[in-house]
Amino acid sequence: MRDKNKWDISFKTMKSPLMFAMVFYAIAIWRYLATGYEFYLFNFGYIGTALAVGLFFNNALPKRHSTWGRRIAQLLVGSYLLIYVGFILGENLQIEGFFTYLLMGVFAGATLHYFVAKIIGPLLFNRGWCSWACWTAMVLDFLPWKKPLNGRLRSLGLIRYLHFFASLGIVFYVWFILQDRLIYADKTMEVYWLLVGNVLYFAVGIFLGFVFKDNRAFCKYVCPIPVFQKITSRYAIMKIEIDQEKCIDCGLCEKNCPMNIKLLSYKDANQRICSTECILCTTCMEICPKSAVSLTNKIDAYNKEHLDYSFLDRGNRKTF
Ligand code: SF4
Ligand code: SF4
Repeated sequence: MRDKNKWDISFKTMKSPLMFAMVFYAIAIWRYLATGYEFYLFNFGYIGTALAVGLFFNNALPKRHSTWGRRIAQLLVGSYLLIYVGFILGENLQIEGFFTYLLMGVFAGATLHYFVAKIIGPLLFNRGWCSWACWTAMVLDFLPWKKPLNGRLRSLGLIRYLHFFASLGIVFYVWFILQDRLIYADKTMEVYWLLVGNVLYFAVGIFLGFVFKDNRAFCKYVCPIPVFQKITSRYAIMKIEIDQEKCIDCGLCEKNCPMNIKLLSYKDANQRICSTECILCTTCMEICPKSAVSLTNKIDAYNKEHLDYSFLDRGNRKTF
């Protein structure tokens, strides 16, 4: 039995980091052999290594520090993608860049990124992108409201879909109405688009974080990326699971879940956490006093979403 106050360096803690590294190294070799472009070896090699390092620390550190592993991976991958791939190499990795590349028929840069991280990848690693690699959340996670004071506000759930279709509409307008097919011929335009998009995302994210006292308000209501992720993450192999034998129904995991997921409803239904709102942040694993929560690999899918929508009254409840 592991002593949760000590490091755990064993095959068990290294298994998932090695698996992750191998998946990304395989993608690196596949893209290199398909294109002859050495950048892919560096790019996917770097991302796979950074995620493996973060996962290793997440598994091996004393439990009270385990989320440092996630933060290390998030900082290594998020800053690399935004600063190096985005601003230095001039790739617009915002959703509009993805739509534009699709119209251009290009399978590189933003399209490859979206397929790996946000469309196909979630079949394996769920919405892990949102807490292990996203550069917007990388900044928002520095805000002080890690544990939401309130449940979700149901009426704001539509905004991410409006955002998604507004972004698609802007790209269609430029492509079909303005007939500007050379918008990305000059990398400067991609960088401007990326810059403006990110300034807006950070500003809105920090504003909502402050208003709702919730670091992840932007992720719950505004970000358009979950529109893709929610389709495939339902079938994700990696999900959170609660051991019914160990759980004492103290509710700490639910109270601390930054995405307001009702974990105990899934446990009571004898299901893994099949919510497409789970971002695999592992907060529930870290907080559980009985080590009843773990990340498991299985094949399952359930449609029912168990989310806490008790927006105004939760703040009056007892907090732990
Ligand atoms: S924190 Fe652990 S013991 Fe408490 S309710 Fe959640 S899973 Fe059960
Ligand atoms: S269920 Fe656990 S891993 Fe998923 S978002 Fe909530 S706290 Fe994070």
